Amino acid sequence: MPKKISEIAVHTITNKPWSTEQCIKEYSDAGIGGITFWRYSFEGRDPKNVGRQARESGLEVVSVARGGFFTGQTQGERQNSIDDNKRAIDESHEVGSPSLVLVCGSTPGQGLRESRQQIQEGIGQCLDHAADAGVILAIEPLHPLYAADRSAVNSMEQANQICENLNNHPSIGIAVDVYHTWWDEHLKNQIERSARNGNLTAFHVCDWLSPMQDTLNDRGLMGEGCIDVNEISEWIDSTGFGGFHEVEIFSNRWWDSDQSEYLKKIVNYFEKN
Ligand code: ZN
Repeated sequence: MPKKISEIAVHTITNKPWSTEQCIKEYSDAGIGGITFWRYSFEGRDPKNVGRQARESGLEVVSVARGGFFTGQTQGERQNSIDDNKRAIDESHEVGSPSLVLVCGSTPGQGLRESRQQIQEGIGQCLDHAADAGVILAIEPLHPLYAADRSAVNSMEQANQICENLNNHPSIGIAVDVYHTWWDEHLKNQIERSARNGNLTAFHVCDWLSPMQDTLNDRGLMGEGCIDVNEISEWIDSTGFGGFHEVEIFSNRWWDSDQSEYLKKIVNYFEKN
């Protein structure tokens, strides 16, 4: 099903060469409905003003990316992370975002099970703060290739389990990103499980290139790679998910290109698919 452009959102990092103000103007001019701010977008700015500018330009603030990185070998490291997550929750509240995306963290050399336990504890310690701020903490499971150092939560099943262990707290949720989850044979069922629990918070799209030049910064534009983005989008929408489809592409190749032309290609994809 083609998406209306007003039903899509773009992450500011997708157009990293643009300033925060440029992203707001360009997305608004293109008729895009929402914007997800990466925290660097607030540098030297007051998140409250940034949120107001976005709304005055007709954009809905969809999310903030990102908090997380809850793991660490010392209690001190883990406490620093919790403090930083509380600041990220405050920024999300100030910009008027209903959610904060979490890249949960993983510490090389530490067992994944221990890291997952630390993640669950870290999130648990932020939930009251999040509830007070009206912000949902959206766990984003990351592809297993990042298990060593970016996230020990690598599947929707693990993300669902953490949410359930935290009693599906109203301030917990999940961000499904096709890049991280497309390989999973249980993906459809696990998307449905998250929706049933009221935890399907966000949906991110891009594509997986093969071969890829860089495992972090060589994502593809939808349609360039091997992910059946339409099929996964249908699974998401058929749960009754009413949220935005968020375009989140880290790509050295696209960052080096003309950003206006690139944004046109993004819009074009949704008009055709
Ligand atoms: Zn994502």
